[in-house]
Amino acid sequence: MYKIIDGKKISQEIKDELKKEVSVLAKSGKKAALAVIQAGDNPASSTYVRNKQRACEYVGIESVSYHLSEETNQEELVRLIKDLNARDDIQGILVQLPLPEHMDEDEIIRTISPEKDVDGFHPVSVGKMVIGQPGFLPCTPAGIIELLKRSGVEIAGKHCVVLGRSNIVGKPMLHLLLQEDATVTVAHSKTKNLKEITKQADILIVAIGKAEFIDASYIKEGAVVIDVGINRDENNKLKGDVKFDEAAPKTSAITPVPGGVGPMTIAMLMRNCISAIR
Ligand code: NDP
Repeated sequence: MYKIIDGKKISQEIKDELKKEVSVLAKSGKKAALAVIQAGDNPASSTYVRNKQRACEYVGIESVSYHLSEETNQEELVRLIKDLNARDDIQGILVQLPLPEHMDEDEIIRTISPEKDVDGFHPVSVGKMVIGQPGFLPCTPAGIIELLKRSGVEIAGKHCVVLGRSNIVGKPMLHLLLQEDATVTVAHSKTKNLKEITKQADILIVAIGKAEFIDASYIKEGAVVIDVGINRDENNKLKGDVKFDEAAPKTSAITPVPGGVGPMTIAMLMRNCISAIR
């Protein structure tokens, strides 16, 4: 019988731990405030921003919201970030991605001060992560490590296959798994004989953004499967990258969508905000 890894429950435990930490810090006069910037009206981004603000409220972190129009230019956003970098009352800065097409995302990420980079996307944070120095870890891969550990899944010595090589999920996932002593293979759209590779995975992490692409035939009997995908079908229903009903019985443990990796991403963001005030 397989186990469903309950990201909602685990993320709630983490948020409760963090809430206690925030109240201890508040007693010593340390307060956390996160600036959340959204440019444009992408509906998915609006939902993510709302969820992050709700989590801040729960944990006791103040969130200061900046909703800029779709037409905002690069210079205005850069100026806002520089102002926030200079403010002592703001410990974390989050720019919700994707930005409108006319903007240069890389420049925006580089403008955020590395000390306030709670998303962990700044090249300084990425560099520290790669060489194993303390710093802000990217929230989704860090959330996956936490999910595995708190579900009692051993990572050391396991063969982990990461499907997807984006800067925000696949690549950092590789490094965090290596730090946990896993043997890691990263596969992507140019990988040949994909099924042969995924079927070797003790832990298969899927982040490709293709609804229900991975069916049971890609999975080794008894593997742990982590589904990062968030896709919407024609009825606006959320679907993962894994065909859950078919795949689950072949696994020993699997994350659902929704209620798996998604809530962990937000919990890790809260954790990074608290690290920022420490
Ligand atoms: P990207 O589109 O940036 O990257 C997708 C990756 O998947 C690429 O490396 C691509 O390969 C690879 N890929 C695409 N199709 C295939 C295929 N058929 N076979 C093998 N590899 C393939 O996506 P993200 O990493 O940003 O996100 C992935 C998914 O995770 C999305 O559904 C996204 O919504 C979700 N997500 C969920 C989060 C959460 O909190 N739960 C957070 C972040 C993302 P190539 O590089 O060759 O193009």
